[in-house]
Amino acid sequence: MTDRYAVIGNPVAHSRSPTIHQLFAAQCGQDLDYSTLLAPLDGFAATVQRFAASGGRGLNVTLPFKQEAFRLATDVSARAHAAGAVNTLKFDDGQILADNTDGAGLVRDLTANLGCTIAGKRILLLGAGGAARGVINPLCGEGPAHLQIANRTVDKARHLAAEFSAAEFTIAGCGFADLAGSSFDLIINATSASMSDASLDLPAKLFAPGAVAYDMVYGRASPFMRQAQAAGATVVVDGLGMLVEQAAESFLLWRGVRPDTAPVLHRLRQELAAR
Ligand code: NDP
Repeated sequence: MTDRYAVIGNPVAHSRSPTIHQLFAAQCGQDLDYSTLLAPLDGFAATVQRFAASGGRGLNVTLPFKQEAFRLATDVSARAHAAGAVNTLKFDDGQILADNTDGAGLVRDLTANLGCTIAGKRILLLGAGGAARGVINPLCGEGPAHLQIANRTVDKARHLAAEFSAAEFTIAGCGFADLAGSSFDLIINATSASMSDASLDLPAKLFAPGAVAYDMVYGRASPFMRQAQAAGATVVVDGLGMLVEQAAESFLLWRGVRPDTAPVLHRLRQELAAR
């Protein structure tokens, strides 16, 4: 019988995950079906339980359910536990195993696809929501010189920085205005501002010479990307590679095989360019 997977969210119809996983399955010779699953805002747990009870094998979880998925799991990976958020569920013998592959996906896109070195770099993470939570530890694991978190709601940035700071590595949290006078080698936009074409109120000279600007939102030239280009960032990129890489990590967890992401990323880029 064909194994069934889906991405669950609200809204979810726009998701590229079915295309990505079907391309992975074809490449790896895996017999699976992957669809979208819309859950009512007050009905996430019931929708997950129904999917699992009907033989579903796993789910990707997207907005706004990543923290609810964390609470539903019976067994949580160390990286999902650290993030306090989950983007992958695997159903196994009545158990709900949970993982968070977002951070690994971002780091792999930066290092393997874009050739960007994180070690020794000054990093600025914009945003303090679920996506930011998921990438802090994986970024710190690469040994940056400094990590600063800035957010519109300043307290959230400060709390996140305090929560993830460790004896050997201190993370700073602040508001956008507090960034005046600082510059960074890698600036990651983990806010959802680009979804509504909103600009971030960032000070001038934030981008150091040779800086990399990374917007987690994909499929559009966002205001953040335009700001970065105008400010002289050398590499300006969207989050499509992160999307494909986090999907590959989920696929590995479910199927025990890691797909080759390069042809899938290439295909998606072509599809988006043709729109
Ligand atoms: P959340 O809703 O948890 O957090 C949203 C964040 O964006 C908050 O920090 C919020 O600030 C900030 N924000 C929203 N609007 C604005 C604005 N107009 N100006 C400044 N800040 C703003 O979302 P997530 O963290 O889960 O996701 C963030 C983005 O990352 C989404 O667009 C999502 O699609 C993308 N993403 C992409 C992935 C990929 O694979 N490429 C994977 C995961 C996420 P405040 O606290 O002040 O409200």
